[in-house]
Amino acid sequence: MRKYALVACVAACGCAPPNRPVVVAAEACRGGPAALWLDFEGAGVVHANGDDAAAMPVTSVLAATSAVIPPFDSTVSAPAVTRSQAIDAVVDRVRTLFLPFDVRVSTTRPVAAPYTRILVGGMASALGVTATEAGLARLDCGNATDGDVAYVFAGELTPDYGGVVGVANVAAHEAGHAFGLEHVTAATDVMYAVASPSLTLPELFGLSFGSGSYSSYGAGTRLCSGGDPIDEAAALACNVGLRAGGGDVTSPSLTWNPPASDVATRFRVAFDASDDVGVVRVEVYKNLELIASLDAPPYEADISATPSEHFYVTVEAIDAAANRAVETRIFTAASAPTGGSDGGVAPAGDLAVSDPVPSGRSGGCSIAPPGNAVAHPGETSWPGVMLALACAVAAVRARRRSSGSG
Ligand SMILES: [Zn+2]
Repeated sequence: MRKYALVACVAACGCAPPNRPVVVAAEACRGGPAALWLDFEGAGVVHANGDDAAAMPVTSVLAATSAVIPPFDSTVSAPAVTRSQAIDAVVDRVRTLFLPFDVRVSTTRPVAAPYTRILVGGMASALGVTATEAGLARLDCGNATDGDVAYVFAGELTPDYGGVVGVANVAAHEAGHAFGLEHVTAATDVMYAVASPSLTLPELFGLSFGSGSYSSYGAGTRLCSGGDPIDEAAALACNVGLRAGGGDVTSPSLTWNPPASDVATRFRVAFDASDDVGVVRVEVYKNLELIASLDAPPYEADISATPSEHFYVTVEAIDAAANRAVETRIFTAASAPTGGSDGGVAPAGDLAVSDPVPSGRSGGCSIAPPGNAVAHPGETSWPGVMLALACAVAAVRARRRSSGSG
């Protein structure tokens, strides 16, 4: 028998939590495939006692009354590229995260229901929730109910707060809830929920559905799983199925010989990328901002920095199956027009962030410390994944500034 749990109404929206979760013990794995519609075009939403992703307007347990979710505004999350490039970056990262599983990601309405629909756009305030959240979903144990509706408040996710990397990670996180996954305490896991500036930047580009101890953060009662660690791969295999064998599972290869010294305040980076089937795109990020999306060689991009700025450049090569290769380097822009000696250093072990991070959104990041029970509608999702992204960068910048530029 399947379990069904609804954690929909908590103090923040002025109503009492359910007396007890509706838990119907149940049978076998649902399996796949699961259709996941990342809807970037906005929609009207009305409150109902159950989600219906196919309805027009969408009906959603998480909407307090009615709401209009606007289309995705790429100028907020990735102002340097086109909207379609920003969407491609989000979609392919979500595809990468679900690669082992039988999840079919689309940007248009799937031909047939059921499907899970994630509305990507707008601010948290559109649903009447606090601005510290980047997404919201209902926890659907066992992926038992059809037509789940979840949200990614991409209007909150400027590059300093995750950019399109954050949008994708939050989308995967909320989809994880819709597929029956709870929060875990492992910081590099997609389902991590406690915002903490403890991740390195390469880790931010390399989250995965792995395993971790159950986190009660925002949940109250444990509903879907028992025992630790939670094996998310096994849960997803049960709830959405595993991808069929065969197909392209080989990641592209990426060759990058970055400058070995300080870089100028504007410099060109160049890469080689290849793949057994074909590279469809190379993405170039400065910190967490997507600054170039390259469909074909030559894979080159110009990077701008302020004098003495310390920053990271991440390059990703992606193939049609959403396999990807990732490289991150740290650079220092010269205080003079050119010259210097400490750019181009490989990042391993060099990016750990441990400095205190100021609270508040302005100049820092919005952090609720672990154990601070912030009541939210829905599963009380605190988008720790995304906020960790943003806070890590903010902390790195703070530390670099305070230690001088060398
Ligand atoms: Zn969550």
